[in-house]
Amino acid sequence: MAYRITILGIGYVGLVCGVGLADFGNEVICADIDGEKVELCKRGVIPFYEPGLEEYFERNCREKRLRFERDTVRAIREGSVIFVAVGTPSKDDGEADLSFLWRAVEAIARGSDDSKIVVVKSTVPVGTSRRVETALRKLNPRVTFRVVSNPEFLREGRAVYDFFHPDKIVIGTEDKVAQEVMREIYRPLYLIGTPFVFCNFETAELIKYANNAFLAMKITFINQIANLCDAVGADVHVVAKAIGMDGRIGPKFLHPGPGFGGSCFPKDTRTLVWMGKKYGVDMSLIQEVVAANAKQRQIIVEKLEKLLGSLEGKTICALGLAFKAETDDVRESPAIDIVRMVLRRGALVHVHDPQALQNAKQVLGNTVVYFEDMYEAMKSCDALVILTEWNCYRNIDLDKVSSSLRGRVILDARNVLDPEKAKEKGFLYEGVGRR
Ligand code: NAD
Repeated sequence: MAYRITILGIGYVGLVCGVGLADFGNEVICADIDGEKVELCKRGVIPFYEPGLEEYFERNCREKRLRFERDTVRAIREGSVIFVAVGTPSKDDGEADLSFLWRAVEAIARGSDDSKIVVVKSTVPVGTSRRVETALRKLNPRVTFRVVSNPEFLREGRAVYDFFHPDKIVIGTEDKVAQEVMREIYRPLYLIGTPFVFCNFETAELIKYANNAFLAMKITFINQIANLCDAVGADVHVVAKAIGMDGRIGPKFLHPGPGFGGSCFPKDTRTLVWMGKKYGVDMSLIQEVVAANAKQRQIIVEKLEKLLGSLEGKTICALGLAFKAETDDVRESPAIDIVRMVLRRGALVHVHDPQALQNAKQVLGNTVVYFEDMYEAMKSCDALVILTEWNCYRNIDLDKVSSSLRGRVILDARNVLDPEKAKEKGFLYEGVGRR
């Protein structure tokens, strides 16, 4: 059965879900308060970089299952199932800023003249979906609203694959009608064996935070082990490989680097700590993850300082600004933070990124020099620092680096190069947790 679905928020999550749900045969309208994004989509331009999305986007627009609308109230009127995929950034104290969500809820109340299923896809603190249900019933008592908490687990850079091959679908609602509609909407995934987890609002909301916090903890754990490897002369890749062979640990998320970033892990770990405080429950483990992750960026800068003596007056080439490879997203990117720290220590910074230069310009402005070509970026630089694990850096031509770079220092904060090869070419190479 096909549904008329409205998606609020044309972001990394909203657009990917909209495109995916349209591909399942539903009629989807994506709406956003950002008129520019809507106009771009109407013209067939995806407003951000997400590999593989274009093909699905074009096909579903062409086959008229996917449309875009600037007027959110009108879009809501047309849908029977409304997915809310608006941003939920965190405030300084970790509390989630739900202002976008409440604005969406008000629009839903205004735009509804028949019954609606409202799906909260945004990551929201425990208790929010219940508050959404209460608010909708109060704001528009004439209409039946059935609320579902349906957190999203896709990864930027692999979002399309993840949408079509999720590890699980979490459906938080005690409403039987809403459960059935959700089961029907995700039926194509159920058919390929995706496990469904049915639970109440609170459990669904907490699953999302617990999931992200665990992954953030795993990254932080291997970063600290890597730092110890540096101190004692061990190789973190071998340690990670060996411990990953233990089925209770598993091999994923054991890659050391400059710490986690992006629009989810940092804010979700902070919000989990905030929730702990709110309910008087000890979240010191995750609090330490937040603190250790911030320290990791500093450790990278200190390594660079040690390699160069001092950063004052030096020119540094930073390769990679996105918070990870295969995305143009620079939100809470460790690379951006590291560049800022290097600037504060009196260095000039040349930057390169294959996709994120535009977004980086919004946050770094004219404090750095931007390059479209990575070898050009290295010219007259004293050191090269790899900050994002893009494939183009893995495949870097060390002979070309040799002739472009003025100095001999390579700090590989993502461990993407072969240390032996770099040393053979005469570089003073350092990675994270291996030499
Ligand atoms: P985003 O910032 O890329 O997109 C959010 C969009 O919502 C923006 O375009 C914004 O203009 C729009 N918006 C804000 N208020 C609106 C309103 N009232 N009506 C319509 N549109 C509105 O955000 P994102 O990265 O897609 O994340 C969305 C949510 O999903 C967040 O809660 C996030 O934590 C969660 N999430 C994100 C990811 C990810 O990898 N990005 C993964 C899983 C979950």
